[in-house]
Amino acid sequence: DIYGERKNSAGLNMNIHSQADDFLAAVQQYRDKQWQAGPIVNGETVDTEHSVSITSPQNLQQQVGRIYWGDKKLSEKALTAANKAYKRWRDTSADERATALEKWADLLEANFNELIALCSLEAGKGLQDGIDEVREAVDFCRYYATQARELMGGPIKLPGPTGETNELMVEGRGTFICISPWNFPLAIFTGQVAAALVTGNCVIAKPAEQTGLIAYRAVQLALEAGIPGDVLHYMPGSGAEVGSYLTSQEEIGGVCFTGSTYTAQAINRALAARTGAIVPLIAETGGQNCMMVDSTALPEQVVTDVVGSAFKSAGQRCSALRVLYVQDDIADRVIDLLKGAMAELKVGDPMLHETDVGPVIDGVAKSNLEQHISDIQQAGRLIARAPMPDETQQGTYVAPTAIEIDSISQLVKENFGPILHVIRYKTSELDKVVDSINGTGFGLTFGIHSRNETFSYDIASRIDVGNVYINRNQIGAVVGVQPFGGRGMSGTGPKAGGPHYLHRFITEKTRTDNI
Ligand code: GLU
Repeated sequence: DIYGERKNSAGLNMNIHSQADDFLAAVQQYRDKQWQAGPIVNGETVDTEHSVSITSPQNLQQQVGRIYWGDKKLSEKALTAANKAYKRWRDTSADERATALEKWADLLEANFNELIALCSLEAGKGLQDGIDEVREAVDFCRYYATQARELMGGPIKLPGPTGETNELMVEGRGTFICISPWNFPLAIFTGQVAAALVTGNCVIAKPAEQTGLIAYRAVQLALEAGIPGDVLHYMPGSGAEVGSYLTSQEEIGGVCFTGSTYTAQAINRALAARTGAIVPLIAETGGQNCMMVDSTALPEQVVTDVVGSAFKSAGQRCSALRVLYVQDDIADRVIDLLKGAMAELKVGDPMLHETDVGPVIDGVAKSNLEQHISDIQQAGRLIARAPMPDETQQGTYVAPTAIEIDSISQLVKENFGPILHVIRYKTSELDKVVDSINGTGFGLTFGIHSRNETFSYDIASRIDVGNVYINRNQIGAVVGVQPFGGRGMSGTGPKAGGPHYLHRFITEKTRTDNI
């Protein structure tokens, strides 16, 4: 058994029609539901004065719910309560904390349909993305529960040459501030919180401004699963107010952040500017992810994997493919097939099973992406844009786009959406290509398509990234199977869903006794 005792969540196989039909019918029932959410402090949802309406990216006329925002004052209250609860939670057994996480996982699974509908309505994610999202959240809980039992199960005995006893113990660090992104509004939110809690930290969780409804449901389920209300607090609000306040406080144990490189750097500065304890920042940010295709690759397989890597989830994954390097000999063939595949992409309502690409998160994202497309088109050559049905007018859709360019240096930043850049290279330019990919400073994912094993392993070892994928797509890392996370401007590590992740949430104590 490759997983050991722990099993990854089974999710739902959409190829089994009876299962798929029931699921599709169940999910549609949530279409008109209105959700409401607000800060949860000490287990109670607090009424606040400032609220924002959440509208659906696929139809800006459709309201999904309302979310009440927290502020500085409420954040202060939550932090005081969390710090007060910390020692009690730290001294709770790892097994008890792990058991609560497993219960949380069960409750997430039990609320599968609602959570997937919310992923779709609030974040514009497709149904298969939603299924994968709930699975990943569940897997994070169960995986970290297993890891914590092992890591925190008891002290490690060390040699005592003079007759003394030496033991190494691990424990939490205090209150973690967990700040999560809108593109994995459930999975990454849950993963951060689960890791911090199970290692004996209290948590204040701040979701992305766009996706506070699903995060609220996740916290409600965590509390129902037995996580005490003074240990886990939920604080939706603006990054400028709530995020800045929490990350600049002296009395915090650490920060776990997923989002843009720019914000991670700002948090790093805020942490450095504090006095008091020096605390860790665990950051997972973006990438300028590339794929290299040599002339031995199978063009049909390449194009299937390119389309999936670049356009699935509307390209709004930090792992998504942004720059495709194709060897000259095979480039025309690959580009031709790519055009054909893009013409077949179905852009539209993410809650329909047949949709391939849904909307981008909001109007700001859409206009930034369209601006980039128009700028880069002038420097490069448009290969294709996927067709856009009329219904997409109602939402924030961007047609999947492929553009040929000459050099990766033409890209000044990560473009977080369904835009693929294509560059032709000659075999004689291989070293230059490797240097320019590493030269971006990002290091998240990298794909290779080749039937030449020596070439693949050589390139894999030379590109500085966290995740390399050979002869497949380069998205969709699975918990405990492909630990996920990058280096350089892409993040601090350790990798989410990997065996070392919990280590940065803990601190160690060596006890030497001569009793
Ligand atoms: N883990 C996700 C994947 O492998 C990406 C996470 C992210 O976009 O932050 O596709």
